[in-house]
Amino acid sequence: LTSKLKDASLVTDKTLVGTEWVSASESGKTFEVTNPSTGEVIATLPDLGKVEVARAIDAAYIAQKAWAKKTGKERAAVLRKLFDLMVANADDLATILTMEMGKPWPEARGEILYGASYVEWFGEEAKRVYGDTIPGHQADKRIIVIKQPVGVVGAITPWNFPNAMLARKMAPAIAVGCAMVSKPAAQTPLSALALAILAERAGVPAGVFSVLTSTDAAMVGQELCANDKVRKLTFTGSTNVGKILMRQGADQILKLGLELGGNAPFIVFDDADLDAAVEGAMISKYRNAGQTCVCANRLYVQANVYDAFAKKLAERVGKMKVGDGFAEGVTTGPLIDKNALKKVEEHVADAVSKGAKVELGGKPAPQGGLFFEPTILTGVTPDMRVSTEETFGPVAPLFKFETEEQVIELANNTEFGLASYFYSKDVAKIFRVAEALEYGMVGINTGLISTETAPFGGIKQSGLGREGSKYGIDDYTEIKYMCLGGI
Ligand code: ADP
Repeated sequence: LTSKLKDASLVTDKTLVGTEWVSASESGKTFEVTNPSTGEVIATLPDLGKVEVARAIDAAYIAQKAWAKKTGKERAAVLRKLFDLMVANADDLATILTMEMGKPWPEARGEILYGASYVEWFGEEAKRVYGDTIPGHQADKRIIVIKQPVGVVGAITPWNFPNAMLARKMAPAIAVGCAMVSKPAAQTPLSALALAILAERAGVPAGVFSVLTSTDAAMVGQELCANDKVRKLTFTGSTNVGKILMRQGADQILKLGLELGGNAPFIVFDDADLDAAVEGAMISKYRNAGQTCVCANRLYVQANVYDAFAKKLAERVGKMKVGDGFAEGVTTGPLIDKNALKKVEEHVADAVSKGAKVELGGKPAPQGGLFFEPTILTGVTPDMRVSTEETFGPVAPLFKFETEEQVIELANNTEFGLASYFYSKDVAKIFRVAEALEYGMVGINTGLISTETAPFGGIKQSGLGREGSKYGIDDYTEIKYMCLGGI
């Protein structure tokens, strides 16, 4: 890996526990990070235990107090520097990301710039954490509202966006004066460690940001929930783990930010621009080999345009290239691990056994390993697993629908409520449908909705809180009101 980098020091075999880079855990345990495209081991890291989690929290608790005393402008300057470093090192950060996660290198580079955009945005917002003054309720009283950092924040992040999912948590936390103890997914810790290296270079003080590498996610989750120095936990991952963390946090009334699973509907009405809809489906369904929480999971196409849409989509998907993320022209990398591959195979087999037709793909790709062919299924019905579960793979199941009313009911018939998409040119319908969809985010005539300037997040079992935008700051601040009497 290091031979591929301009700056080899962005890869480390140490992990950042509080104020110290640690090369071995107290237990002496280690774990390996592999490249999912080749199966090669690319790094061996300390497998941390309870002692180290507690140490990182203690260090964060001390460091946070001093960090919170800095002005917004001072913290903004540090984040601006981190943003500049991320952009300057984007090629190397993308290489590290593709190596540990498998996504095509250009997509990985896009993720780095996307992650950096949150650092830039929240650095700017650091100066604008405004309070309020409220007219007093009695003649001699004045009311002042201020916003203060919540304190030490725990963060647990997934493997599908190893840089951006962490960057968009650490940036607002650090911007407002919190400290963060993070645990990246064990599959993809190197991107998080590289971010910590750059954060240190940018001037984030020791202890303010920790990256704990561990294969014992449940233990780290328990420690973060049980330690009363931790005031908030922010998590991106599965709904099941989100529920565990919510239960665990109950004893402390722990504040939670949860970005959980989705089951995004992607609706194509018969008045839609079909070419644009196909383009949107390509981005929303097949990006990152279908492994994003906002990926279109169910494609509903109105009966009149069903065949035409399926044909156009197949033409585009047929041109996709599966392979190693470093190879020229590759659009689809491997799935993250064997379980992921198994789930995709099972979803396709289940659909086929219940009458769906494989229009394209439908099986592991010829190169074997963790690669799966971009797939289109037609004749899909609500009784199939692809309809109720997140597939997290490059499989587009096409459902046929007749009316607007029917498709809204189908689209909302899920416990999830993260992203949704639809294509139509009718202005009145656009408002009706957008307002009727029970989702935190609605893409209208677009398949790409993620940006640091908008509030990302879900309703129902897709989560709590929002990341990005002016609203994203609120997740890391507490409101305090001062009542001044005797005036
Ligand atoms: P995914 O399907 O994306 O792997 P997970 O929710 O299992 O979804 O993983 C997301 C993150 O949650 C990872 O960092 C993982 O290590 C962590 N994780 C898994 N199980 C637990 C748990 N019981 N408590 C806390 N974190 C967990």
